[in-house]
Amino acid sequence: MPIDPKIQCVAVRSPRGATSTEIEWKDGHVSVYPHVILRGYCPCAACQGHQGDIKFIPCSGHQLEIDEFEPVGNYALRIEWFDGHGSGLYSFKYLRALCHCQICHPEPLGEEHPDLPRT
Ligand SMILES: [Zn+2]
Ligand SMILES: [Zn+2]
Repeated sequence: MPIDPKIQCVAVRSPRGATSTEIEWKDGHVSVYPHVILRGYCPCAACQGHQGDIKFIPCSGHQLEIDEFEPVGNYALRIEWFDGHGSGLYSFKYLRALCHCQICHPEPLGEEHPDLPRT
């Protein structure tokens, strides 16, 4: 089965020291992720346990700086944070659902951080 272009990542842009990361998708959509959102929704077991929806966990400081991105197969990105936390595997499907832009969320999310389903 061909992979949905909506969940095919063509580029990740995250200049060192940036506070947000940009992901370009094969369908032409560009998602901008503030790091507070990316880290807050880290899907790893240490942050989220092993079951239930993914919850937003507030964080700050070095927790919000990204050390590196590592592609995992063609379906996910592993994000290593500056504080050494690096067990979060962000599937592209999950990242796409996490997009906070106005097209994906016509109603602004504001300060609300809803729980997300696991993918
Ligand atoms: Zn985590
Ligand atoms: Zn979007």
